[in-house]
Amino acid sequence: MKINNPEFVCSTHKREEYPFHNLPEVALAGRSNVGKSSLINKVINRRKLAFTSSKPGKTQSINFYKMDNYFYFVDLPGYGFAKVPDKVKEEWGVMIENYLFNRSHLEGVILVIDSRHKPTNDDLMMYDWLLEMNMPTLIVATKVDKLKRSQRRQQEKLIKERLHLTPFVPFTFFSAKTGEGKKEVFKFINQFID
Ligand code: GDP
Repeated sequence: MKINNPEFVCSTHKREEYPFHNLPEVALAGRSNVGKSSLINKVINRRKLAFTSSKPGKTQSINFYKMDNYFYFVDLPGYGFAKVPDKVKEEWGVMIENYLFNRSHLEGVILVIDSRHKPTNDDLMMYDWLLEMNMPTLIVATKVDKLKRSQRRQQEKLIKERLHLTPFVPFTFFSAKTGEGKKEVFKFINQFID
């Protein structure tokens, strides 16, 4: 798959504003600032299609990106930010739930976590939701360029144990700096494309 014209379509928190189309959607879930937008940009080789930001919790809506006529990337608002009021957290929960549980186009989710840290309670909660929904899920441990080679095996074990991953759940390290892991991301997405 070679994506020639990736396009930002819309950013919304309202169900009635989700784009109308008949392509599969692959959503990205993860903590705020974990690197979801950077992953999208790296996978399609564009520096700035998806909005990256160094401010956690900034993107509080769902962003839809069209990948030619193959599929849509859907960047879900990040969780785990400490400095927002409870009301915002509640709205976040409703928005994510509405999307995950009701969107018929949704075929798979890429759960992005930080390769340097133990998955958080929020990561665990999100993964449990996906399990409960029987959602095909790829676990991507990003920012691996910040890990020493010698730490990889230990981090992989920590992540897999904490999330209780079975050997059947695909897992990959990823780096938006080096492009490591791109192949695994495409392999995951390819299964949803005719
Ligand atoms: P998002 O909130 O999940 O969309 O996170 P962003 O993609 O905006 O990334 C947050 C910050 O982490 C930015 O400063 C990125 O440059 C940085 N970042 C993201 N991915 C990587 C990576 O793989 N390696 C390194 N070193 N930095 C990254």
